[in-house]
Amino acid sequence: MSEQSTHQRVALVTGANKGIGRGVAGQLAALGMTVVVGARDPLRGEEAAAAVRTVGGDAHAVTLDVTDQATVQEAAKQVEERFGRLDVLINNAGITGSGQVSPEDAHDQVPSSVDLDMVRAVFETNVFGVIAVTNAMLPLLRRSPAPRIVNVSSHAASLTLTSDPDGPFTALLPSAAYAPSKTALSALTVQYANELRKHGILVNAVAPGFVDTDSNNHTGLLTVAQAAEVVVRLATLGADGATAGFFSEEGPVPW
Ligand code: NAP
Repeated sequence: MSEQSTHQRVALVTGANKGIGRGVAGQLAALGMTVVVGARDPLRGEEAAAAVRTVGGDAHAVTLDVTDQATVQEAAKQVEERFGRLDVLINNAGITGSGQVSPEDAHDQVPSSVDLDMVRAVFETNVFGVIAVTNAMLPLLRRSPAPRIVNVSSHAASLTLTSDPDGPFTALLPSAAYAPSKTALSALTVQYANELRKHGILVNAVAPGFVDTDSNNHTGLLTVAQAAEVVVRLATLGADGATAGFFSEEGPVPW
């Protein structure tokens, strides 16, 4: 029996009250993990956790706004008191900055006219929030026999794809907020992976594809369940699994 399957694994998913995060929470619970549903709205977090329990999963809500250090610390304290450790961290919470508009179609993200406050807000959630949550949870992850961190990124993070004049992103509007925030998340993924690989903590980024959620006003083509699969795969890597990688359902994504 593998090391991972000998104890009850505990996973925290940020932004798990809806969308991809909620789908990931459901699939991790279906694998038998205890899932901590991070949500900035306690009521909606509790609703999502209750929905997972209804289908037989073990889920608990925790109030967690990734931009609010007090809730981040309190969430870590609650996970420690209740479970004593963390095995999986899914940094899923994210915003486009443009409301319910597909990020790459958002006119307000065009670099030459972007509102710097919007860029700051996007980085606060998509980049600085990941650092805040990861660092608060790392002491708990270090107590796991097989810790895994998955950062939910985007194909828009890929400098290779977005700089290709013949590539799939040429038809889309340039973005000074969402896409660069996810590129920064790629950089963070590699830096954390490099620091933590000697401790057996695997850190990877995922591009879930274009997914039907509120973030793009439900114009996405993939279901939340389809998108969650690659996230779950990276959350359950074996000891010889990848780290410092960037993956979609189809395989590695170029940086
Ligand atoms: P979504 O349905 O809008 O869900 C986003 C989740 O993040 C919600 O639970 C939201 O909470 C939460 N969130 C936002 N700001 C937060 C904060 N400060 N603290 C805690 N939680 C916060 O969007 P989604 O499409 O599922 O997006 C999930 C992740 O996938 C994001 O990182 C996104 O960039 C990424 N992604 C999505 C797509 C796509 O096609 N949908 C493609 C590539 C990448 P509230 O309900 O309180 O707002």
